[in-house]
Amino acid sequence: MKIEPVAHHSLAETVTAKIAASLLDGSLKAGLQLPPERDLITRLDISRATLREALKALEENKLIESRPGVGWFACAIDEGNMTQARELASIVAPPQNGRPANSEPGTGPRRIPTSPEKPIHIPNLRTDRLGTFEFISWWEKDKVHDARVLVVGAGALGNEVIKNLALMGVGNLFIVDFDNIEAANLSRSVLFRETDNKRSKAEVAAARAKSINPDINVQYLNGDVTAALGLGIIRRMDVIIGCLDNREARLAVNRFCYWMNKPWVDGAIQELLGLARVFVPGQGACYECTLTEQALRDLSLRYSCPLLARANILLGKVPTTPTIASIIGGIQSQEALKLIHSMPVEPGKVIHFNGLNNEMHTTAYVPREDCESHWTYGEIVELPARAERTTLDDLLRIARADLGRDAMIELDQELITALECPTCHTIEAVLRPLSQVTFEAAHCPTCGLLRESTLTHVITGDENFLHRTLASVGIPALHILRANNGEEYRFYELTGDLAEALHFKHFTKTDTADSTQPRGHVHLKGPAPAPAAAVKLKLHGRVKLRN
Ligand SMILES: [Zn+2]
Ligand SMILES: [Zn+2]
Repeated sequence: MKIEPVAHHSLAETVTAKIAASLLDGSLKAGLQLPPERDLITRLDISRATLREALKALEENKLIESRPGVGWFACAIDEGNMTQARELASIVAPPQNGRPANSEPGTGPRRIPTSPEKPIHIPNLRTDRLGTFEFISWWEKDKVHDARVLVVGAGALGNEVIKNLALMGVGNLFIVDFDNIEAANLSRSVLFRETDNKRSKAEVAAARAKSINPDINVQYLNGDVTAALGLGIIRRMDVIIGCLDNREARLAVNRFCYWMNKPWVDGAIQELLGLARVFVPGQGACYECTLTEQALRDLSLRYSCPLLARANILLGKVPTTPTIASIIGGIQSQEALKLIHSMPVEPGKVIHFNGLNNEMHTTAYVPREDCESHWTYGEIVELPARAERTTLDDLLRIARADLGRDAMIELDQELITALECPTCHTIEAVLRPLSQVTFEAAHCPTCGLLRESTLTHVITGDENFLHRTLASVGIPALHILRANNGEEYRFYELTGDLAEALHFKHFTKTDTADSTQPRGHVHLKGPAPAPAAAVKLKLHGRVKLRN
C-alpha cells in the first residue's frame, strides 16, 4: 500500500493556482484585464492580503503584469513562463490525472457537453427556418420545440425575451402581464406598434410572437402574476423568465417557483445598468435570500397597507433603454435556452452589466438559512374541481376527509372581509380579494378617509361565506391550494380547469384576429401574495430544500 503525502497549501497558493490554471486552459486569455480586486475578493471569498500575495506570486512568475492605475493583465503563455504556470497550477490540477484545470466558476467559459447521440442531419436552409441551429453542436431541436416557457412581464425586457424565444423556435410560450400599452412603451418594445395603444401587453406580445414564428404555440394571460396565475400553470412549465420591474412580483414568482420546484431567470434593468440571474430551488441562494433585511422590512411594511402598496407599484416607472433591455433580455433568453438543454448554469449568482464602462462581473449570493421561500410542495392531488364552480365548503370537505376535522385552507392572497371607517363608524361587508379592491374604493364614501380593512387568508369552516366559489374569493383557475391540520399539509389542484387554463392555442390559424379573451380565465388585478403562516410551520408534506 502506497501512502500519498498530504499536501498543505495556503489559500494564497490555491488562488495563485486557480488563476494560473485559467491562463493555461485559455479561459483567461493573454492581454485580458483581470476583474477588479474587490470583485476577486468577493468572488474567491478571500481577504485583500491573500489576494495581493497571490497576485505578487503570479507577477513574479511573469504570468500577469500590473499597469499602474489600470489594473492587472494576463500575460501570454510561452516557453518563458509555461513551466512556472504548470507548477503553480498543479495544486488545483495535478498533471498526472490529465484533466485540464477548471477555473473558478465565473472567471472563464464552462465547456459545454455535446450531446453524443445527436444524429447527423443536414438541414434545408431554404425551407427550414430553424435550420442553422442544427449546426450548433449542442442544439437539440426536440427539446427546444417541446419546451414550455412562462414569460412574466411583457415590458421592455419581456419584449426582447419573447422575441428571442420565438426566433429560436421555443415551442410553447405563456405570457403574463396585467398592463396595457401606451405611447411611452413604443420606444423600448420591439413587438408593439402605434396602433396597439391601450391594448393588453400580454395579448399583443403573444400575437406578435406567433407572427414572428407561426410554428410555435402561444398563450397569454392579461392579469397580475401575484394573483391571477394558477400554480398549476407554473407546475407545467420547464422554465420561468421574470421580466419584472418590482420586488413584490419578483418575490411572488420566486415563491411560486420554489413551491413548484422550477428554475427561474430574473432580469432587471435601469438606464444603462442591468443584471441577470438564475435561481434553482435547492441550489444556492434564491431571490428572497438576496433581499437585505431592510428590503424585507420595506416589503412587510407595504403589506401592512397593501392597498397603498399596490397603488405605488402601479405608479412606479423605472427609466430604461431598449439597448440595455436587449443585452439583459438576451442573457436571460440564453440562460433559459441552457436550462431547456439541461446545460450547466450558475444558480444563485448574479451577472452584473454596467453599460457606462462595459464592465461585466459575476457575484455569488449567500443563501439564507432562515429564508422563508425555501419550501417545495409535496404530492399534489389532482381534483376534477374548477375554480368557478367549486365552493370553499366543497374544498373544505375534501380537506377534512383527508386531514380530519381540524383541516383548514390557506389562501395565497388576502381576502378583505370588511372595510371600517374610523370616523363614521360604518362597516361595509366586502369579501373580495385584496387585488380586486382599488385604493380609491377603500376610502369612505361619506368622509373620504381611508378605511381600515379586515383581512383573512385562512378558511377554518366558521366563516359565513363558505358557499362562495373559489373564483369569487380570488383563486385563479388551475390553482393549487394548501390545506393543513396543524401537523400535515395536503395540496389540491383544480385540475378541472386544465383544458381551458393551459392550452397554448391563442392565435392559431383558426382564430380570428380579435378572438382575444382567454376563455375560462378569471380576470383579476392583484397585488401582494401573503404566503401566510404556512411558511412558518414545519409540517409534513412541505419539503424544506437545503442549500
Ligand atoms: Zn432564499
Ligand atoms: Zn367615513
